[in-house]
Amino acid sequence: MCQYWSAVVRGLTPYTPGEQPKLANLIKLNTNENPYPPSPRVVAAIQAELGDDGARLRLYPDPDGERLKAAVARQFASLDIGPEQVFVGNGSDEVLAHVFQALLKHEAPILFPDITYSFYPVYCGLYGIPYETIALDEHFAIRPGDYTQPNGGIVFPNPNAPTGRPLALSGIETMVLANPDSVVVIDEAYVDFGADTAIALVSQHPNLLVTQTLSKSRSLAGLRVGFAVGHPDLIEALERIKNSFNSYPLDRLALAGAVAALDDAAWFEQTRQAVIQSREHLSQRLGKLGFTVIPSAANFVFARHPDRDAAELARQLRERSIIVRHFKLPRIDQFLRISIGTDGECAALLAALTEILA
Ligand SMILES: *Cc1c(COP(=O)(O)O)cnc(C)c1O
Repeated sequence: MCQYWSAVVRGLTPYTPGEQPKLANLIKLNTNENPYPPSPRVVAAIQAELGDDGARLRLYPDPDGERLKAAVARQFASLDIGPEQVFVGNGSDEVLAHVFQALLKHEAPILFPDITYSFYPVYCGLYGIPYETIALDEHFAIRPGDYTQPNGGIVFPNPNAPTGRPLALSGIETMVLANPDSVVVIDEAYVDFGADTAIALVSQHPNLLVTQTLSKSRSLAGLRVGFAVGHPDLIEALERIKNSFNSYPLDRLALAGAVAALDDAAWFEQTRQAVIQSREHLSQRLGKLGFTVIPSAANFVFARHPDRDAAELARQLRERSIIVRHFKLPRIDQFLRISIGTDGECAALLAALTEILA
């Protein structure tokens, strides 16, 4: 606290990102990064953009990210998506921040699940948005019928985080139809690992907005690229915020790399399937060690051991140079969220847990 701080800053409770340790040789299974490198075409595209002398870096990037919007539209061309339905930003966290300010800030509280991405209440604090949480059922499932009270908007990830549980598109459509006066935002950070994209519904519903990121399924958490797809009127609201904040949220290297990543379908498919296979194998092996594992549609598993304290397990794993995520929050403080690593990393995790549980 300091006399120079504004009242807004004094009132903030910032998000705490998962640890990015400075130590080498740690097995890092705590922030859901992809264990595989991005497409080699990403590296080539960034090198081409840099050129021999980096002279292009003298120039500002395209403020509208037109090539990237076109690449996103190509991805979803079979769903009839055009570039005018696409917004791009510096990671989907930034896209979501603009969404909260542009589309979710109203008098009525917004709704999100009691167990969900812990950034949502932080954005509410930043922008002064009232919210109410809706309890997941006892199996951590979202019940679409629970989201019917008057609200200023609805937001949740699909699959949900940190549970990994997916919601069927029929459930999402139920919510969108039941709330014609507010925007329903589906945060699809993990959708490529096992859920259906609600972008399929965007063209029929003017109050549905879907966000995605290249951080997880495209292995580009370090490049910071995310996007939203929705009705052009919703996109215009986001552009108005963005152009009142930072005209150039995506730099030249990020724009070039992101287009190359989206256009390499084969790499995407291969790495995504590898993660899905490892997840199924890890879930099965954790089950054999006595863990209860929530069936996951994401690139992580959410698991608890009936006889061991989760915080203690996380500490014991850390002693063995493996970091996983533990949330000290109601209902989930006995769970660990474990990102899917390479097969070697998953094997090291299982070996460490076997030793700890012995
Ligand atoms: C990782 C994640 C994001 C943010 O991803 P960016 O790296 O900012 O694109 C958004 N929502 C959820 C649920 C996430 O897990």
